[in-house]
Order: sequence, then C-alpha cells, then structure tokens
Amino acid sequence: MSQYDYDFFVIGGGSGGVRAGRLIAGMGKRVGIAEEYRWGGTCVIRGCVPKKLMVYASQFSEEFEAAAGFGWHVGETSFDWKTLIANKDKELDRLEGLYQKGLAANKADIINSRAELRGKHEVYLKSEDRIVTAEKVLIAVGGTPARSTGIDGDDLCITSDEVFHLEELPKSIVIAGGGYIAVEFACIFAGLGSKVTLVYRGDQILRGFDNDIRNALHEEMTARGIDIRLGHVFTRIDGDPDGQKTVYLTDESNIVADQVMLAIGRNPATLGLGLEQAGVETDAKGNVIVDAYSKTNVDNIWAVGDVTNRVALTPVAIHESMCLIETEFKNNPTKPDHELIATAVFSQPEIGTVGLSEEAAALVHSEVHVFKAHFRPMKHTLSGSSEKMLMKIIVDAKSDIVVGLHIMGHSAGEMAQTLGIAVKMKATKADFDRTMAVHPTAAEELVTMYSPSYKLVDGKRTDS
Ligand code: NDP
Repeated sequence: MSQYDYDFFVIGGGSGGVRAGRLIAGMGKRVGIAEEYRWGGTCVIRGCVPKKLMVYASQFSEEFEAAAGFGWHVGETSFDWKTLIANKDKELDRLEGLYQKGLAANKADIINSRAELRGKHEVYLKSEDRIVTAEKVLIAVGGTPARSTGIDGDDLCITSDEVFHLEELPKSIVIAGGGYIAVEFACIFAGLGSKVTLVYRGDQILRGFDNDIRNALHEEMTARGIDIRLGHVFTRIDGDPDGQKTVYLTDESNIVADQVMLAIGRNPATLGLGLEQAGVETDAKGNVIVDAYSKTNVDNIWAVGDVTNRVALTPVAIHESMCLIETEFKNNPTKPDHELIATAVFSQPEIGTVGLSEEAAALVHSEVHVFKAHFRPMKHTLSGSSEKMLMKIIVDAKSDIVVGLHIMGHSAGEMAQTLGIAVKMKATKADFDRTMAVHPTAAEELVTMYSPSYKLVDGKRTDS
C-alpha cells in the first residue's frame, strides 16, 4: 500500500484533467480530481461548446435571408436571447453531468474544491480545509482571459467568461483583439443583430494565418456590417449611469456601445496555485514549463493543456493526457505530437486550416507552388449573397508534398478535419490530382486545381 492518499491527483476538471483522471482511475489507480468551478473546463463551460451553439444561433439570420431565393417566404422573424441562453445552459448541465459520470463510473474521487499545491506530494483542498497527499500530481488548470490592457475603464469590460451570461443581447458591442475569440464573437453578435465594432492593434486580423484568408475574411465580415478598425487600441473607457460605455481609440475617435469585450489572449491560471511550494518552474507569463513528455522539473508532477503554453486547443490537451498515460502507466514513452494541427475559426464564413501559410512556406521551402480558387459557391447563385469561398493549397515543389491547406467558406472546419489526415500523411499534390471529385460540392475544387496559380522561388513570386 502506498504511503500516499492517492496514486494520482489531478488539479483541474477540464478536458485534459478529466481525460487523465478517468482513464487512470479506470486502470485501478486511486485517483483524486479537484475542480473549483464547473466540470468540463473552459471548453465545455465557457468556450468551444457554448460558443459553437451561439454560432449556430447567429447563422439563422443569414439562412432566413437566403431562403427567399429558393422560393421560401419566411415571414417576420424575431430572436429571443434568453431562450438561447437557457437552452445553452441546459445542454452544458447535461455535458457537465456526463463528465462527472465518467469519473464516477471509474471510481475517481470527485472533489468540488479549489486545490493548491503545498509541497511536491501535498495538495490543499480549500473547501474542505485539509491537505491530501499524492504520489503523482497533474496540473491541468487551464487559463483565464486577459482582463486588462492597463487603461482607465478596463473594469467595465466583459471577457469570454462573462459573454455567455449576459442578461440581454447587446444592441451594440465593441470588441478588442484580432484573434480567434474576437473574430468569432464579432461574427456571432453581428449575426444576432448587434452593431459590432472590432478594434485590432495590428494591420490585419488573425495574425499568423495565411494572408489571403485574413484579407478575405476581413472583406466578408465588413460585408456583414462589422466595422473593423485596424491599427488601433483602446485608450480609455467611460461608463454612463445607464450602463452604456464610451470607448476612446488611439485616433481620438470614440464609440458608444452597450458592451465592451476584451478578447486579447489568455493567461495560465497559475496564480496562487502553490507552484513555488512544490518547486515547479514557470516561464515569465506563469505558464508551467514541461519537457517533451509533459513532465515539469519536479519528477512526480506533470502538466497538460493551456497551463503549459504549448498549443491552447482542447484536442491538444486531451492528446497530451493520453501520451502521459502511455508514458507513465503503460511503459510506452510517447511524446505529444504538436505538428500539423488542423484548426477551425468559427467566424462567418468559417475558416479551416492545416499546415503552413503561403508566407511561412516561402520561408522554409525554396520553391512553393500556390493553387488558389476564389469563387461563389453554388448555394449563393440563388441565395442572393455575394459571399465568396476561398481555397488555397500550398505545395513544396521539390517534394510535391502539400504543406498547407486553407479554406474560408461554408463547412471549412469540417473539411479541415479530413484534409488534416491527408496533410499529416504527407499527401502529394499528385495524390490530390488523382482523387476523384465529389460532385457537386464546393470541396471538389480541392482536387481540380491542376495548375499552380503562381509560384514562389526563394520567396519571390513568379506568375508562370
Ligand atoms: P489570441 O492569441 O488568438 O488573440 C489575442 C488577440 O489579442 C491578438 O489579436 C492580439 O494581437 C491581441 N492583443 C493581445 N494583447 C493585446 C493588448 N494588450 N491590446 C490589444 N490587443 C491585444 O487569443 P484569443 O483570446 O482570441 O484566444 C485564446 C486561444 O484560445 C487561442 O489562441 C486559441 O488557441 C484558443 N481558441 C481556439 C478556438 C478555436 O479553435 N476555434 C476558439 C477560441 C479560442 P496580436 O495579434 O498583435 O498579438
């Protein structure tokens, strides 16, 4: 019998923590898992899941408009925010229950409490005011939205933590940031009928994505009525007694809105976690430093997910936990693979992407062939929408391997998942060319672009 209360203790009941806790408990180990808020973590409770439900809600306005071109008369429509929020909350309750059920079925000890380290084997459970001991510990506490830009009025802003609980749909909203969350919520609120202004400090939204995709999304968002202000940040925010806010920008213009949202990145939730007491090292931002197997500098403590500053995505946290189990509990050392992760931005239209952007490919490959199609998808021939779809295939000319794929348009996220397999398998452009098209689909463009749109030789574009 071990000298510790638990064989394995997990701090954090999100995607990474629950997966590790459930499977390790299922192997007969004595597992404790503590969560201070709600089971399911950011993804289930205040991230991916409620966000995607809101995306679905916001898409109806466009569908109602498109219907007329297909002969439908939809009639007067109205939207009730409270119904959406209540139904969303019901679904989250169901999912949270499933997470707990999975842990309980495997006999993990479910602890509803904040947990903090008090030593390398000691975990303090705040709600019970006691210390338990564990042979091995996993830190899976995730992150929290950045709340401050350091200006007056920051405290009047909401973040992605509060946005799912607003009492009412804001008639107008100003969003700071140009990343995933800013872009997705700008599109959600625009689709639901709010007047949206997006303020981004850089020269184009979605830094790091393929430039054509960034430019095309900007155009489509503008066409949906979203006011995108590039090269600006907030300088001050004033609140009125009636709840309205006035946001001042660097060009001295101001915007009056019901809500102001900060979507300026996320920080690891390591504050007050007792990492110093356990001797666990962090980087300057507070992220837990781990090796290639997710182990910290302390030999019985691991960390997975957003708290580690690798790739902040749910499937990545789950994968890191699965690798940890292989390594530590199945005697099969396995490093998480962070290469070629396909992702989607649930903007409207959405983006699906895997691999290198054209710009990044040009830096690492001497000759790059770019295949590009920018077209009106069939649905919009009748819908009346001027929305276009963009597809790009980036090929390393030397090996013929497809090193990047970027799509903006309907179902781009779904496509990215399947294309991710081909890219991961190092499919060549010749493999794409010999694949029969599925007709009539938008995706068939991906296997019918036979000649490069242009080439890049040593980073310079040639149009032959
Ligand atoms: P991101 O890192 O994607 O974007 C943060 C944005 O805020 C950037 O545009 C950044 O600008 C800007 N910014 C940072 N600091 C400031 C500041 N002080 N003032 C003004 N602007 C600032 O973070 P998000 O919060 O959007 O999302 C966090 C992470 O969550 C993502 O990286 C992603 O991994 C994950 N996520 C994934 C989703 C998906 O898979 N669909 C959806 C939502 C989140 P700059 O570009 O100049 O640095």
